[in-house]
Amino acid sequence: MSGNHELASYIRDIPDFPKPGILFKDITPLLQSADAMATAVEGLCGPWRDAGITRVAAIEARGFIFGACVASALGCGFIPIRKPGKLPWDALRHEYSLEYGTDCLEVHSDAARSDDRILIVDDVLATGGTAAAAAQLVVRLGAQLTGFAFVVELGFLSGRERLEPGTVHSILKYD
Ligand code: AMP
Repeated sequence: MSGNHELASYIRDIPDFPKPGILFKDITPLLQSADAMATAVEGLCGPWRDAGITRVAAIEARGFIFGACVASALGCGFIPIRKPGKLPWDALRHEYSLEYGTDCLEVHSDAARSDDRILIVDDVLATGGTAAAAAQLVVRLGAQLTGFAFVVELGFLSGRERLEPGTVHSILKYD
């Protein structure tokens, strides 16, 4: 693991959740600590503090927790990217492939303008499929995708290779 070892101690490994073979990174111990949360939010903002970000887009559900805090810390707006059928207004929809089957994300069609600079935030970068789908939605909104910030990156799954080079920032990286 590379990154902040103290912060890493607030992330609990749950073997075989939600299915056999997955080592789930449980962030709930981190959420219990105000200091650890402050460290995580500061770490997520890291390279993006002076990047002119105007809106943070985050992915349901755990991404919302960090994304809303990062938006507040950067002094910018927040865009929820949600599972299908949850958004009440006109929405753009992006279907993407999983190892088995497909999944889908949606965003309100008026969530950003062409001059918005967007930071996408989520808790974990694994294979990168979810973050790549969120990026597609931001591009379809016509906004500028500036970068990504993750608390945890599972480097052995090479998710960052599916995202624009030089745009991915993670606090804790597991190789
Ligand atoms: P992926 O699309 O494979 O990069 O998966 C990323 C999404 O799935 C994120 O929204 C994570 O919350 C969740 N996720 C994937 N793998 C894990 C894991 N090992 N532990 C916790 N969350 C995970």
